[in-house]
Amino acid sequence: MLVCNCVWCILFYYRAGGIIPPVAGRLHKENIERVVQEAVEKSGVPLQELTAIATTVKPGLAFSLEVGLTYSLNLVQQYKRPFIPIHHMEAHALTVRMLHSVEFPFLVLLVSGGHCLLAVARGVSDFLLLGQSLDEAPGDTLDKVARRLSLKNHPDCSTMSGGEAIEHLSKSGDRLNITLKIPMSQRPDCNFSFSGLRNQVNQIIIKKESDEGLQEGQILACASDIAAAVQYTVAMHIAKRTQRAILFCKQEGLLPQTNAALVISGGVASNQYIRKVLQIVTEANGFSMHCPPPELCTDNGIMIAWNGIERLQAGIGVLHNPKTIHYEPKAPLGKDFS
Ligand code: ATP
Ligand code: FE
Repeated sequence: MLVCNCVWCILFYYRAGGIIPPVAGRLHKENIERVVQEAVEKSGVPLQELTAIATTVKPGLAFSLEVGLTYSLNLVQQYKRPFIPIHHMEAHALTVRMLHSVEFPFLVLLVSGGHCLLAVARGVSDFLLLGQSLDEAPGDTLDKVARRLSLKNHPDCSTMSGGEAIEHLSKSGDRLNITLKIPMSQRPDCNFSFSGLRNQVNQIIIKKESDEGLQEGQILACASDIAAAVQYTVAMHIAKRTQRAILFCKQEGLLPQTNAALVISGGVASNQYIRKVLQIVTEANGFSMHCPPPELCTDNGIMIAWNGIERLQAGIGVLHNPKTIHYEPKAPLGKDFS
């Protein structure tokens, strides 16, 4: 199985402090051949022995999706292999099944750089959406807070993503020194919101910067307290919405009455503190919790390949003569509950 994912986008993102779509597209174009050749060499399976070719076609940056799709369709023609188009979030949701036996249906929480959603996974390509972020995703919030705190100038954090930097700094911070409101506490649904939290944090940072007489790029003395408070608030918001989703699933009989499972994935699910909080929620509800290791929670090619295998085994969406495949920059996962 051959894979294509946004590795170069991610690298550039952390260096530049944000993705510049045409630059991401150019980097994809320049690097895709080398990345594929290296992956094929490492796997020890020559291209002509591939069973099928699986590639992300939605959702994502148009420039990057186009490069991956065009490259893959050329290989499909050259080696006469079936093509399996992949939904990036379906791949995040199913990765864990490569490592643990988690049977459908299960509850899945996806928390990443561009998404935050709760769904019941009923089958390989069958997702019932229970709730999602009404504004930004938690990874985006953590990245923006980290950037606002200039954490790339912190000696420990210069090569970390924003989320990793916040997790690292939180360990030496005291969340009780900073007061933040947990979003949407009174909302009786399973949706999320993070932009209000980011505004609260920005106001606090502006005030502290002026108190400390800070120059641009310098790090606040209380940065670790702010990191700890943000991590705690994000964790509590996610935990409360997940608790609501669990109760809803029980009420509607959407999951097995015994041995129900919660799967968490996406880059933010690498966070050990958030995992611990969710572990408490799942245990209290008699659920088991499953999560890929951190390197498979953030974007990776293996999850795309695994999704291809799942689809191939289930006989879903395997194209033997693909002619007019289009990429889709915006594509929600699954159906809404109604
Ligand atoms: P999407 O999957 O929604 O399209 P994406 O592919 O950009 O978005 P991922 O690669 O799944 O996102 O995750 C990247 C995000 O995960 C970044 O926002 C990053 O800050 C966050 N992240 C990575 N490690 C951690 C961590 N330890 N704690 C919290 N957040 C983290
Ligand atoms: Fe992702």
